Amino acid sequence: MEWAARHCDLRDDPERLLPGTKSVVVVAMNYYPPRLQPADAPQFAYYAYGRDYHEVIKQRLWQLAASIEQMAPCQTRCCVDSAPIRERYWAQQAGLGFIGLNNALILPKRGSYYFLGVLLTTLELEPDMPCTLSCGECRACIDACPSGALSGDGAVDARRCLSCLTIEHHGELPDWVSSVIGNRVFGCDECQKCCPHNIHAQPTQVTEFHPSDDFLSLTHDRIAQMTQEEFSRLFSHSAVRRTKLAGLQRNLSIVSPSPPKGGCPK
Ligand code: SF4
Ligand code: SF4
Repeated sequence: MEWAARHCDLRDDPERLLPGTKSVVVVAMNYYPPRLQPADAPQFAYYAYGRDYHEVIKQRLWQLAASIEQMAPCQTRCCVDSAPIRERYWAQQAGLGFIGLNNALILPKRGSYYFLGVLLTTLELEPDMPCTLSCGECRACIDACPSGALSGDGAVDARRCLSCLTIEHHGELPDWVSSVIGNRVFGCDECQKCCPHNIHAQPTQVTEFHPSDDFLSLTHDRIAQMTQEEFSRLFSHSAVRRTKLAGLQRNLSIVSPSPPKGGCPK
């Protein structure tokens, strides 16, 4: 996670990413899957069910940039995790939603299963009002986090977060992870599944984010026996390729074969 600490100066000032920036446009794309994995299958985070969001959103942002550049002579720059910029901060400033105690951007009445993309432009656009909502008295995600990674003040301890550990961590996982990983083989959605705002989540209509039958039929045994060829065929355009086959099988070796008890409907 060292990348998060790099380029802090750039992160704080979009002008340094695109000189002359006058406006920050933030887009959100729903990824809540229309079909879910069987509960007894090794679980992937919902965002990884379909095609890699970097590819999908960037294409849409390029179309938006072309439209903006037709409105008036200007420069644009599209960012989808490709430049150091505070996406959630700008999303809140743009009125899209608020940052929850689970660190996700929450769109009121829509939930948090959304990818964000940012477009910088030198064109001056009329701004929207920032979103001023908050979590209020709710603490559901802090209670639901299986590894105690949420501190309650909006911070996430990446060293304890199953999403970071199963995706970003290289080498062996700490011993304690096996007691909390449940059947999560790639990522973790617990702090979103329990969020009351996600009761309103609607299946995405972006077909690129829909899971394939092949993906939904993955079992413990199939992942355990998966070859590099099959991994590449299934995941070469998926966020799952980040963990590589070895990482996926490392995670699999400590997941429990049955779903964790309790939990939330979404
Ligand atoms: S992704 Fe999972 S482990 Fe990480 S903070 Fe959320 S609930 Fe906790
Ligand atoms: S579960 Fe509650 S505290 Fe956590 S992000 Fe959602 S509204 Fe906020």
